[in-house]
Amino acid sequence: EQDKFKKVISHAKEYGYIFSSSEIYDGLSAVYDYGQNGVELKNNIKAYWWKSMVQLHEEIVGLDAAILMHPNTWKASGHVDAFNDPMIDNKDSKKRYRADVLVEDYVEKIEQKAQKEIAKAKKRFGDKFDEQEFVTTHPRVVKYRAQSKEILTRLAKSLTDEDLDDVKALIKELEIACPVSGSRDWTNVKQFNLMFGTKLGASAESASDLYLRPETAQGIFVNFSNVQKTGRMKIPFGIAQIGKAFRNEIVARQFIFRQREFEQMEMQYFVRPGDELKWFEHWKEIRSKWHKSLGLGEENYRFHDHEKMAHYANAATDIEFNFPFGFKELEGIHSRTDFDLKAHENLSGKKLQFYDPELGKNYVPYVIETSVGLDRMFLAVFSSALQEETLEDGSTRTVLKIPSVIAPVKAAVFPLIKKDGLPEIAQEILKDLQWDFNVVYDEKDAVGRRYRRQDAAGTPFCITVDHDTKEDNSVTIRYRDTMEQKRVPISEVKSIIQQNIDF
Ligand code: ATP
Repeated sequence: EQDKFKKVISHAKEYGYIFSSSEIYDGLSAVYDYGQNGVELKNNIKAYWWKSMVQLHEEIVGLDAAILMHPNTWKASGHVDAFNDPMIDNKDSKKRYRADVLVEDYVEKIEQKAQKEIAKAKKRFGDKFDEQEFVTTHPRVVKYRAQSKEILTRLAKSLTDEDLDDVKALIKELEIACPVSGSRDWTNVKQFNLMFGTKLGASAESASDLYLRPETAQGIFVNFSNVQKTGRMKIPFGIAQIGKAFRNEIVARQFIFRQREFEQMEMQYFVRPGDELKWFEHWKEIRSKWHKSLGLGEENYRFHDHEKMAHYANAATDIEFNFPFGFKELEGIHSRTDFDLKAHENLSGKKLQFYDPELGKNYVPYVIETSVGLDRMFLAVFSSALQEETLEDGSTRTVLKIPSVIAPVKAAVFPLIKKDGLPEIAQEILKDLQWDFNVVYDEKDAVGRRYRRQDAAGTPFCITVDHDTKEDNSVTIRYRDTMEQKRVPISEVKSIIQQNIDF
């Protein structure tokens, strides 16, 4: 699995999908740039989401709110007080860790150690060895599993100083049981706010403290009345937005899965109070279908319902995806109640209500939120698409089976050889296709190598012009996934591609 993840990262760079930010200065931790193919894939994922969430729903409209917002926004939303991760510094290594992640790491190491001992004991005692008994009687594993579970549950809630002291004590104990960092000198566990601060205005006196938004949702909430009134929206209705969000993540080590600057595709659906759980179920189902419609494999998704809830929610679930490092959150679906709108009403003094003609009264709507990370979606697509295949002749090919509908380049056009007027015909076909699709031209190397290059880059179709083309106006179309080749008239190329990339 570790190997697969490494391959994903190096392939993403080699084929112009993802680079480390400011790489010539050795990069910036947990910040990434999307290259020539990456930007196309990202745009296509956005378009796929926007089409199905906004344009195919009459009652959902879009919004593009600013990243910078009035500082009161983050007081009302609770982010100033409650958007914290517990962290701990190691004085010797000068490294900072997220306390909950550190605890998980230790427990994993301890479990691994136990597994090794189990394997050893099995070798020695063979059939007589009872694994179940070993695990339950193995003191460290049992003890630390239980203790860590309890601490992790506490860490997920708002924490008292006593909680933080207990975490520190557990980390010290775990470190002795199974040294990870080789160092025992820890600071106290502290709360660390994840918002990036910045300043508005030039002079220090007049400057006011701002934050880069840590989620796009609040831009939707503060515009609730603007959109509802000008769009004459009736409940239930939704407002959707795609945009950047910023979090000063402490542990940022899973490539684009956890970044400090990332993009969210969010939709807030405003409903009548009391109806929220019905709509919560409804959106769970729609979002699950949306993911499965891309064809990345149904077995790669699962729901994870939350027992512990964020401060604003009364129901929450994650759609998890099977990333190269295991099942992890791809999208969050939350029933946010009227928490945000009420909080903004209170702090701004402005009404954020809807007059419901059927009920004949005003109320603050309840909200169901669907929030998917664009970068995580990208990683889900890219990592599941990257495959090594063994062909009939025993050779291997690397192929990036990105669903055609979102593939960055839809087709590559080749002249078989660089003479006899073939490049000119290929160029003509290219120019014609350019109006409808993102296409590329390639005339370097043998045609077989060009096919392999496009396979690895994720291009679903290759169109080859050869000498027969001059006689009968036909070309060879070759399919990335099956490697099948067909002879087709030039006039049909466009519709063949179109049929394969329709929503
Ligand atoms: P996690 O528990 O993984 O930190 P979260 O529960 O804090 O995520 P939400 O606040 O629900 O995430 O944000 C909604 C979505 O935004 C997530 O499902 C994820 O896809 C994406 N997201 C959140 N944080 C990041 C990040 N640091 N980098 C990339 N995507 C992110």
